[in-house]
Amino acid sequence: MAERILLVEDEEKMARMVELELLHEGYEVAKAFDGVAGLAQAEAGGFDLILLDIMLPGLSGLEVLRRLRRFSAVPVILLTARDGVTDKVSGLDTGADDYITKPFAIEELLARIRAGLRKRPAAAESGPPPGKVLIAGEVTLDVDRHEINVKGQPVELTLREFSLLQYLMENKGRVLSRDALLEHVWGYDYVGETNAVDVYVRFLRSKIDEKFGLKLIHTVRGIGYQIRSDQQRVL
Ligand code: CA
Repeated sequence: MAERILLVEDEEKMARMVELELLHEGYEVAKAFDGVAGLAQAEAGGFDLILLDIMLPGLSGLEVLRRLRRFSAVPVILLTARDGVTDKVSGLDTGADDYITKPFAIEELLARIRAGLRKRPAAAESGPPPGKVLIAGEVTLDVDRHEINVKGQPVELTLREFSLLQYLMENKGRVLSRDALLEHVWGYDYVGETNAVDVYVRFLRSKIDEKFGLKLIHTVRGIGYQIRSDQQRVL
């Protein structure tokens, strides 16, 4: 099966040129022309590698990367401007696998893509988030595969529900405030309803606690939510 590449690049001519080259090499290509659309496509998943321009309208490439790394370890190659040294450093710090400076020779881009695709299993082990499986009682969450199992049965969650559950499970034993959850799961610039956390905890409870007869997510009155570290298996 052809490997799928997502290209997030606002310069449409350049995007078209790169797309044609990638198609010629036998890759499947999807394009997004701004950060928001790029993140949405990345969230929909199914990509083997992402080419991500840094200077994007809407959401910058670095912000897209930061949010992407909450739920995916897919290899990312940043497309940076010639003088964007700070961008390169922040990009690698944020979890990019590689970068290429514009303007680039297409052969170099193709070589880096091949290297990025080869690195995939290693990236899954060492990249953020690591290829990890979180466990709380009867609930297992596989970060890389993006899968939840409760009592051995798969559970379908939306991306937001998954991110929220992942963050709670990563912090098992800690009480997390609504603000902390909003910041980590929705992003610091989130401007929607402030009760979003409560609404999504309700969704999770209905899909997990109620469906499987568990008590996974505890409300800590006046503070927030917690998955207890002594989360027991309940039969
Ligand atoms: Ca750009």
